Amino acid sequence: MIKIGVLSEDQNSNIAVLIPHNIKQLKNQAEFYIQKNTGLTSGYTDSLYEEAGAKILSSRDELINQSDIVLSFNPPLSEEVPYGNKTFIGAYDVLNSYHANILPFQKNGVNVFSLNLLPRTTIAQSMDILSSMSSMLGYKAVIIASTLSPVTLPMITGAGGTLKPANVLVLGAGVAGLQAIATAKRLGAIVKAFDVRKVAKIDVESLGAQFIDIEGAVDQQNAGGYAVEQEVDYLQKIEQVLFEEAVKADIIITTAKIPGKKAPLLITKKIIDNMKNGAVIIDLAADTGGNSVFTKKDETITTKNGVVIVGDTNLLAKIAKPTSFLIANNFTSFLTYYLKNNSKENDEILTATNVIRNGKLINQKIIQEIEQL
Ligand code: NAD
Repeated sequence: MIKIGVLSEDQNSNIAVLIPHNIKQLKNQAEFYIQKNTGLTSGYTDSLYEEAGAKILSSRDELINQSDIVLSFNPPLSEEVPYGNKTFIGAYDVLNSYHANILPFQKNGVNVFSLNLLPRTTIAQSMDILSSMSSMLGYKAVIIASTLSPVTLPMITGAGGTLKPANVLVLGAGVAGLQAIATAKRLGAIVKAFDVRKVAKIDVESLGAQFIDIEGAVDQQNAGGYAVEQEVDYLQKIEQVLFEEAVKADIIITTAKIPGKKAPLLITKKIIDNMKNGAVIIDLAADTGGNSVFTKKDETITTKNGVVIVGDTNLLAKIAKPTSFLIANNFTSFLTYYLKNNSKENDEILTATNVIRNGKLINQKIIQEIEQL
């Protein structure tokens, strides 16, 4: 039977890519090795994995050597990748990170798949880790903002009077943005949202929030549902409209991203200088440069006029149990598909996610990206 090993992540990451119930689902198809303490910080002890049928190993080297397929969220360290017939499957950040995350795998016999490259097709939907992560981020961003904000999100009426609901502004209404809108609405806030994709208006309104319409976005019919970069004129127009909305906001959640590119700058110095004292910005685009001009990656700063800006890129680790549950189901779905279809040529999902085959970089998306450098 094929042997599958799961590496534990470093202490900052906390995500388990398989949890015990997945081992039960898959144990007729493979034998499982789990690195000691893989699920501990997300709430799954080694004994739960053992009860599900997996074997616990302390040594990473031993686990990699014993396994045909090695699973992890982040790539293993470069010196841990042996020559020989191994397949590594992960949520590796392979775009824009050739030297760190691709070069170490270019060794004879090594195969690599990254779930970050999944096509957004119906069959791949159950494997879509990016959607799972974005949903959790959108939720957590609002929860963190609500604890940092000096105001209440819902209207509260008591003997002492009435507190107004908070004004929440969400920029980018993709998966993370829509979850942020839904969470802020459930908490009773007044929510407005903006996205360059006009189609997002229906989603925003269906959640009971107001969509901020700004005419003039660049056409994005060929971008597979994703946003494209916008002209300078239009970005200036966005700034004007957002200025009026941002100065009224108690909380801003920014999620605007363009795949493979730097995040658009939406919250300028002029906007921040005019925001309320105590206003909170959670910048979920901090990993790709941030949507706010003052965002500092992995730091929380307070501006001179009292605006708190959170640039934490590791929020998922703070909500590791439900995130692991979702991601592990995505990995299970991919693994089941991989085991069934791996021998087929030109399978759409496996071709899109295959980065390295037998030590060679074969992914066209990454090859094109490198050529443009
Ligand atoms: P993303 O994380 O790449 O970007 C987040 C949002 O930022 C997007 O909605 C984007 O339009 C927006 N944005 C970009 N530039 C902006 C700007 N200058 N101003 C304001 N907003 C800006 O996107 P995502 O969450 O991955 O979702 C992208 C699309 O893919 C959505 O239509 C989503 O519904 C769709 N999707 C499809 C599937 C599937 O088919 N399986 C799965 C997940 C998401």
